[in-house]
Amino acid sequence: MTDPKHILIVGAGFTGAVVARQLAEAGHRVLVIDERNHVAGNCHTERDPETGVMVHVYGPHIFHTGDDGVWRFINDHCTMMPYRHQVRAVVRGQVYSMPINLHTINQFLGTNLSPAEAQARITDLAESTITDPQSFEEQALKFVGRDIYEGFFRGYTRKQWGVDPTRLPAAILKRLPLRFTYDDNYFAHPYQGIPKEGYTAAVDSILRHPGIELRTNVSAEDTDTASFDHTVYTGPLDRYFQHRLGRLSYRTLRFERDVRPAPHQGTAVLNYCDEDVPYTRITEHMYFAPWEVQSFEKSVLYTEYSAAAGPDDIPYYPVRLIDDKALLTQYVSLAQNTPKVTFAGRLGSYAYLDMDVSIRRAMDVADMLKTSFDRNQPP
Ligand code: FAD
Ligand code: UDP
Repeated sequence: MTDPKHILIVGAGFTGAVVARQLAEAGHRVLVIDERNHVAGNCHTERDPETGVMVHVYGPHIFHTGDDGVWRFINDHCTMMPYRHQVRAVVRGQVYSMPINLHTINQFLGTNLSPAEAQARITDLAESTITDPQSFEEQALKFVGRDIYEGFFRGYTRKQWGVDPTRLPAAILKRLPLRFTYDDNYFAHPYQGIPKEGYTAAVDSILRHPGIELRTNVSAEDTDTASFDHTVYTGPLDRYFQHRLGRLSYRTLRFERDVRPAPHQGTAVLNYCDEDVPYTRITEHMYFAPWEVQSFEKSVLYTEYSAAAGPDDIPYYPVRLIDDKALLTQYVSLAQNTPKVTFAGRLGSYAYLDMDVSIRRAMDVADMLKTSFDRNQPP
């Protein structure tokens, strides 16, 4: 390495922490700031003082990946406990298995079909005239047909995203599998787990390095960025530019906390797919720690509501409608023309990234920066 750089990283979520760690290990000096009073961003977990349950403060987070390097990395920073995510969905007063699998199909149709029979039935129900689905709705109609779409996806998606599925990209639905077996594992990745001491402890470990200084309760806007050789910004892209081209749209979430005698719901996540139910899902947090679930007398539940994010709300999900995409292109061009700043992460790239993908992309950003610094070229 030539000369060590002084780097500012805005945001102590997975993205910021991983970039910080890789740069510090390469000999650079890193200051990580976050405007919240904790690290781990939206993956933050904390023990509920009343019940002792480890709560996923910004919504349920399950680590799953097929990336060996990412799995090794996260296991270096926490003890990953075995966890298998199963979701149930309530449709018109009945409880079904999610994602759509042979059990769901048989429950919904009132049948006892074999895998081959179910596949044939879904092929009959699916709208075969749709060859190249453009929207969420077209994707769903091609995938499972109108009845299953209207039962499981239409209402939930309208509540979650605040727009009709005809205006949403097909990619959102492609996150979910369709299975003709009784496999009800929500995720198909080979590795899945939850950190024994929660995600915040894992991110603390990533940030624990002599080359990293961490300051919480500090925002980028209150920091003199000019004194650093380079900045990695993981906050919202439009916010960095004071929304000068307009606001990218985000969904925000509101959680209504409830404490009940344990167990209350009996599973980690119950989705509510009907549109006349105002919330999207209820989470019973103790089930994210199956290794300690027997030890609680009281249980914490979060009822989750989704809404358009206002200027003071926490941005959770980038919406990425057609209008957002046009605006995003303009912001990306501004970002590319901003010297000494690299934009990264879920908010910095305005993308729907899972934790494993955030970590992989953060590793790639760090590699790119290290190479540029070594060659004395601007990143
Ligand atoms: P964040 O975690 O959002 O971190 C960004 C940080 O930057 C925040 O701490 C913020 O306070 C800080 N910041 C922003 N702007 C500024 C500023 N101007 N000054 C100072 N600090 C600033 N992924 C999975 O793999 N599995 C799941 O089950 C899963 N469930 C999810 C559920 C929900 C409800 C949501 C919203 C996301 C879920 N994700 C899940 C995705 C996961 O949350 C992201 O992959 C991860 O948080 C990305 O990390 P990040 O560091 O890019 O962003
Ligand atoms: N979805 C739905 N009904 C469900 C579960 C999911 O309509 O019971 C839709 C919804 O639009 C959601 C998308 O499928 O945004 C992807 O689901 P996933 O569980 O991946 O969403 P996440 O909560 O991780 O964003």
